Amino acid sequence: MCRLCPLHAQRTNAVPGEGHPDTEVVFVGEGPGFNEDQQGRPFVGAAGGLLNELLRAIGWKREEVFITNVVKCRPPGNRDPEPAEIAACAPYLRRQLEVLDPAIVVTLGRHSLGTFMPGARISAAHGTQRPVDPTTGAPNALAYAMYHPAAALRQYSLRETMLDDMAGIPAALLESRARRSEPVGELPVDPVAEQAAGVIETVEVVDAVELETVLAGVATTPEQVDDDQMQLFG
Ligand code: SF4
Repeated sequence: MCRLCPLHAQRTNAVPGEGHPDTEVVFVGEGPGFNEDQQGRPFVGAAGGLLNELLRAIGWKREEVFITNVVKCRPPGNRDPEPAEIAACAPYLRRQLEVLDPAIVVTLGRHSLGTFMPGARISAAHGTQRPVDPTTGAPNALAYAMYHPAAALRQYSLRETMLDDMAGIPAALLESRARRSEPVGELPVDPVAEQAAGVIETVEVVDAVELETVLAGVATTPEQVDDDQMQLFG
């Protein structure tokens, strides 16, 4: 188990992340909290409940995206992760993004924002997107900035802002798809109608990406949690 930074000393579980291995959308928060540390899963506390709610507001399911953090072990007392800790943990996030190759990286909070939109301020950048530097690991993605759900738990008025920002993600996804598609001349004439028609994809659900598996660069083995097939972004 990783001991590359001091956060290993007080963790109960590392929290590598979880979600669908073929998703186009990766949410990156700051670090695990108490519940996440206990369960080894990201965003399972109150902030996770709000994130689930925000996803439902645009018709998406948690299992259809991938959720992780810039540091995989809980900072004691839920303090902010230190720059050196973020740097030490960066290879894990970078490898996850290389494997997942998302179209959109949704940053949750300012530490994630600092990784994918260096120099941006959350108050100005939320609800906006910009191309991701491929050195982050995401080869061809747009970063889309949002507040951290925990901020909206502390400040109720931010919920409306987060709902508005979440509502902008599908359009950002369409823009990123257009950027990634080749040749450019074959882009859909009406991308909204294209989405409505939808390419129905079946999905499988994975619990988590093991840190060692990520380091080894071995593709995740999806774990089928039930026999139902879901529509991705349907
Ligand atoms: S936070 Fe990241 S680098 Fe630090 S011990 Fe945990 S897995 Fe390793």
